[in-house]
Amino acid sequence: MAAITLKDIVKQYGDGFLAVKGVSLDIADGEFVILVGPSGCGKSTLLRMIVGLEDITAGELTIGGTRVNDKAPRDRKLAMVFQNYALYPHLTVFENIAFPLRLQKGKFTEAQITEKVEFAAKTLELQDHLQRKPANLSGGQRQRVAMGRAIVREAEAFLFDEPLSNLDAKLRGQMRTEIARMQRRLGTTTVYVTHDQTEAMTLGDRVAVLRKGELQQVASPRGLYEQP
Ligand code: ADP
Ligand code: ADP
Repeated sequence: MAAITLKDIVKQYGDGFLAVKGVSLDIADGEFVILVGPSGCGKSTLLRMIVGLEDITAGELTIGGTRVNDKAPRDRKLAMVFQNYALYPHLTVFENIAFPLRLQKGKFTEAQITEKVEFAAKTLELQDHLQRKPANLSGGQRQRVAMGRAIVREAEAFLFDEPLSNLDAKLRGQMRTEIARMQRRLGTTTVYVTHDQTEAMTLGDRVAVLRKGELQQVASPRGLYEQP
């Protein structure tokens, strides 16, 4: 896993709009940072710049000490779990998880793929569902398959963009527990965007509050909410 540092990161969109106005943040190796803030404050933009889906206008981004501003997404070794996790309906859970490995043609033997998928399935308690199709899974199980895909990528860090916002309250609670446990087990550096106060309070080591493209505050969950 790896530390992530953001130094004076700026995003100006093509139409001139300044969505991120100089954000600096040091995320330690293995740390779980929650990113919160009102809709439109730049959370997704920031996450997309970290993962490489959006160009950085100015500033410096390093992952594991290496500058990655100009690196392609695949060379950043990050795994992003989206809100609308797109699983392939015609593929089994096993094949859905194995998908990123099969894309890297010839890189892994069948035995290696099986080993990696089984490790991910065990971490996420999906062992008994590997031969099922997504349509036959619960929402929470589908979410775990999406995370399994991130795990097999052997990413340096996980990025989550409101991963639980489409789930009902009960499942959200279960998944919160799952994510916390997975993070403890894997020691993954994690950046997690959410609107949900419970997630912010219970999951993160630190909470970063973004407002109009600027970092307003970074504190432990307790420190943040105890302030007047
Ligand atoms: P959040 O994730 O916090 O809701 P976003 O990062 O999606 O916020 O958006 C931040 C701001 O940037 C918003 O005002 C949004 O309208 C604007 N924005 C997002 N994408 C683009 C784009 N491609 N071009 C211009 N402005 C954009
Ligand atoms: P590659 O074949 O280059 O290893 P993929 O085909 O798996 O990459 O993905 C295509 C692009 O989308 C790459 O740039 C990759 O980094 C990105 N990508 C795909 N899945 C994810 C994910 N779960 N998290 C982050 N980036 C992803």
